Amino acid sequence: MSMKWVYTFAEGDGTNKKLLGGKGANLCEMTQIGISVPPGFVITTEACRAFLDDPERRLPEGMLEQVHHALADLEAETGRQFGRGETPLLISVRSGSALSMPGMMDTILNLGLNPKTLQGLIAETRNARFGYDAYRRFIQLFGKIALGVPEEDFDTEFEAVKRKAGAERDEDLSCNDLIEITERFMSAVEKSTGRPFPSDPYEQLEIAIRAVFGSWMGKRAMDYRREFKITPDMADGTAVNVMAMVFGNMGEDSATGVAFTRDPGTGENALFGEYLVNAQGEDVVAGVRTPKPVAALADEMPEIYDQLVDLRHRLENHYREVQDFEFTIQKGVLYCLQTRNGKMNAAALVRTSVDMAQSGLIEREYAILRVQPDMLEQLLFPQLDTTAEAEPLAQGLPASPGAAVGVAVFDADRAEKLGRTGERVILVREETKPEDIHGFFASRGILTSRGGKTSHAAVVARGMGKPCVAGAEGISVDVHLKRAIVGDHEFHEGDLITIDGTSGNVFLGEVPMIEQEFSPELTVLLSWADETARLQVMANADTPEDARTALKFGAMGIGLCRTERMFNDTDRLPIVVDMIVADTREERQAALNRLLPIQREDFKGIFTVMAPRQVTIRLLDPPIHEFLPAEQQLIDELDELRHLRTVLRGIRVLSDAVEFMYRSRDVHPTVQMPAEPVLVEEAIQKKEAMLTKVRALHEVNPMLGHRGVRLGLTFPEIYAMQIRAILEAAAECQKSGIAVHPEIMVPQVCTAQELKQVKDCVEEIRADVERAHHVKLDVKFGSMLEVVRACLRAENLAEEAEFFSFGTNDLTQATFSFSREDAENKFLPMYNRRHILQDNPFEVLDVKGVGRLMELAVMWGRDARPGMKVGICGEHGGHPDSIGFCHRIGLSYVSCSGYRVPIARLAAAHAAILDRTAGLQYPSHRGYQCIGAL
Ligand code: PEP
Ligand code: MG
Repeated sequence: MSMKWVYTFAEGDGTNKKLLGGKGANLCEMTQIGISVPPGFVITTEACRAFLDDPERRLPEGMLEQVHHALADLEAETGRQFGRGETPLLISVRSGSALSMPGMMDTILNLGLNPKTLQGLIAETRNARFGYDAYRRFIQLFGKIALGVPEEDFDTEFEAVKRKAGAERDEDLSCNDLIEITERFMSAVEKSTGRPFPSDPYEQLEIAIRAVFGSWMGKRAMDYRREFKITPDMADGTAVNVMAMVFGNMGEDSATGVAFTRDPGTGENALFGEYLVNAQGEDVVAGVRTPKPVAALADEMPEIYDQLVDLRHRLENHYREVQDFEFTIQKGVLYCLQTRNGKMNAAALVRTSVDMAQSGLIEREYAILRVQPDMLEQLLFPQLDTTAEAEPLAQGLPASPGAAVGVAVFDADRAEKLGRTGERVILVREETKPEDIHGFFASRGILTSRGGKTSHAAVVARGMGKPCVAGAEGISVDVHLKRAIVGDHEFHEGDLITIDGTSGNVFLGEVPMIEQEFSPELTVLLSWADETARLQVMANADTPEDARTALKFGAMGIGLCRTERMFNDTDRLPIVVDMIVADTREERQAALNRLLPIQREDFKGIFTVMAPRQVTIRLLDPPIHEFLPAEQQLIDELDELRHLRTVLRGIRVLSDAVEFMYRSRDVHPTVQMPAEPVLVEEAIQKKEAMLTKVRALHEVNPMLGHRGVRLGLTFPEIYAMQIRAILEAAAECQKSGIAVHPEIMVPQVCTAQELKQVKDCVEEIRADVERAHHVKLDVKFGSMLEVVRACLRAENLAEEAEFFSFGTNDLTQATFSFSREDAENKFLPMYNRRHILQDNPFEVLDVKGVGRLMELAVMWGRDARPGMKVGICGEHGGHPDSIGFCHRIGLSYVSCSGYRVPIARLAAAHAAILDRTAGLQYPSHRGYQCIGAL
C-alpha cells in the first residue's frame, strides 16, 4: 500500500505542522472547529521531500491517485466539476511549510480554467468580465510560477492594452480589453515556452504541484532559510494546499482582505487590516491598488464586519496567539482562507504579551517566551527627534515603526552591494517583491510609493524589525533613472534621506534621532522576567553616567567597573603619565597621591548612583604602557623638537651678533630674546625620558605581558591607591547615609598566591580606613577568571576569593589562542564560512570549550566555598544564548553593557522557564552533571 500523501481539511491533524505545513495544518484545524473555510486538501511535505530527493524528480508513487480522489471528494462537497460541466470547480494551489515564510514561495489561483470551463463560469456568473479577469490572472500566475515565463512579458502586454484602452486603473478595463489581454497572454506563454498553454486542468494541477514543490529549492526560499537559520529539522519541504476557489472579485458585494487580530505595528487590541472591494487576494498584498482600512468595512458591509470581528475573537481564543489571516467575501459570504501566527515588531509583541497575559488568554511564562530577547533591540532603536524642525518631503503609511537614515538606493542588488561596504542604505521602490529580499537584509529601512500596511514591503520589514514607510503616493519612483520625484523636489541614488516608519514621514537629508523610552508594557514584562529569572543582571559601567543608563535599563548592580577607563580622562592622564615615568618610588607616590582624590570622587559618584546595589570594581588591568604615547609618535615629535632647537640656536647666534653690534654702539635693543630655547630643551628632555620608558616597557606580546595583577604586584602602590580610593569613597558615602556594597576584583589572576597578596593589602587598608572613619565596611574581595589556569585552580582560588567573575573575552582568547584584537578581522569570517566554527566565539560563548572550563571552575570553586557567587562580565554576558548557558551551569549573575541589560533580563527569564519546563535542576555545587552535548 502506498503512503498517505494527501489529507482533506476535514481529516488532517491540525497540530502536525511538520507534515502538513503551517498553512495546511491551520486550514484543517479551522475547518474542524467550524470556521468557514472553503473545502480542500493538503499534499504533505513528505511528498515534497520524496519528489525533491528523487534524481528524476518523479512525483511519489500513488500521490496523483490520492490527489484525484481528493478532487472527486471536493467536487462532491462543492457540487462543482473539475475541468468540465456548467459549474466548473476552480482551485487555488498554495505552498506552505512548517515555518511561516511570508511571500517566500508561490501561489496559483483559478486553476482549472480553460476555454471550456471559462464559458461555464461566465454562464454561471452571468459576468463575462469577471470570467476573463479570472482567466487572465490564472494565465499570468500559472505562466510565471509554473511555466517560468518572465513577469515582464505579461506586464508589457497588460500595460499595452491598458494604454490602448486609455484605462487608468485595472478596474477601468472593459471585458473586451480583458479578452484581448488573455489572448496576448496566451501568445506570450507560447512564445516563451514554445508550447501552447496547457488546457487540461489535471495537467495544470500536476504542473502546479511540481512548481510549488520545486519552489522550496528556489533562490528566494533558500536565501530566506539561510538568513533566518531555518534548518531541515525545523522545516523540510513545503506542503501543497489545494482549495476550492472563492472569489472576492464577483462584484460590489465581494471583497478580499488581510487582517490581524491585533495591530501588528503597535500591539493595540483592535482588529487591524485592509481590504479591497471586488478584488482578488494578490491585489491587496501586491499593492497594485491601495486598500481601505478594515474599519471602513463597518460602514460598507456592517454584517460582514461583525462576522469578521467574531472571527477575530474565535481565532485568538483558539490559537491563543495573535493571528494574521486572509479573508474573502464572495457575494456577501465570508470565508477565511488562511491563518497563521502574526509576525509583529518588538513593540507590538511586548504589548500583546502583556495584554494577553493580563486578560488571562495566555500564561505569564508564555508571555515572556513570546518575545525573543534580541528583538528588544528594536525598542532601543532611535526615533526621530520631534524637536528637530524638519519638514517632511512626503508622507506614506507608517508601515513598520522606528526611524532610519541612509542613502537612497533604487534596487535590491545595489542595496546589497552598498550595504556590504557599511553604507547606510534606504531601499526605495515603487513596491517590493519577494525577490527583493536581499535588499531588505542590506537596508536600514524601506520606502515604497505604492501598497498598504499589509503590502509585501510592510510585512517583511515588520518581521525584520526595520522601519518602513509604504504607499507614499506623492513620490514618483523611477527605478531606471535611479531617482524619485516629489512635487518640485527630487532625490537621486546616493542622496541621504530619513524615513520615519512610526509616522510615515519621509525627509530629505539626515534628521536627528533620539533614544527610546521604555513603554509601560515593557516595564511590566521585564518585571515579570525579573520575578521569573534566577540569574541576576548587572551592568558593565565605568562612570556615573554609564551607571545611570544601566539603572534606567534595570541593572541590578554593576558587575564590572573598569578603572583604567577613568585613568584615560584628559584631566588625569597627565598625572597617570607622571606616575608611569617616575624614576623613584617617591615620585610615583607623589603622582598617586594626586590621583587618589580624583579616583575617590569617581567611586563616590558611582556608589551614589547605584546605592544600595552591588558595585564590582576591577583594579587596574591593562599594561601601563597603554597610557603612554606610541614609540614612533615620540620619535617623530623628538625629531621636530630637535629641528626646532637647531633653528632656535641659529637665531640665537644671529641675535647675539645683533646684540653685540648694538652694544658696541652703546645702543640698547628693545626686543627681548625669546625664552623658547629653554622650553624646547625641557620638552626634549621630557620626551627622551618618555621614550626611554616606552622602550623599557615594550613587550613583544603585551596581552600576555605585564598587566593585571602582575602589574599590581610589581607596583603595589598603584593597587594600594585604588583600594584606598574605593574604601574611602565607601566610608564617606556610608557616613552620609548612602548604602554601599563595593566589591574589589583582581584581574588576570592565575595563582592563589597573587590573590592572597592583594587581599592582604585590602585588609590592611580596610582596617586603616575603618579606624580613621569610624565605620564598618561591607566589602567583598573576588577574582576574575579569565586565565585558563585560574579555572583549573578554581578550588584554590576560592579559598581567597569570595566571588568569581568570568572574563570570557580574555578566557576565549586564552582557550583558543586567538588574538581578541585580530582574529575577527583576519581568519574568523573564513572559519565561519567554511563551518570550521559555527559562530564567532568572541560574540557567542563557545560552550564546548570555554564553557566547559567555566562549568568545571564553577563546580570546583563551589567545592571550596559552597554557594559561592559566580558571574560573567565578558561580552557574552549580554548574548541571549550565552546567558542560557550561564543559567544552566548555575552562575549567579551576568553583567553586560547597559543597553543590553533589558535583553539580558529577558534572556535570563527565558533560560529559567526553559530550564523548569525541561525539568532540569542544577544544584549549585557538586553533583551537577554536564548536560548532553556540552
Ligand atoms: C574579559 O576579559 O572578559 C573582561 C571582562 O575584561 P576586559 O575585556 O577588560 O579584558
Ligand atoms: Mg579581561
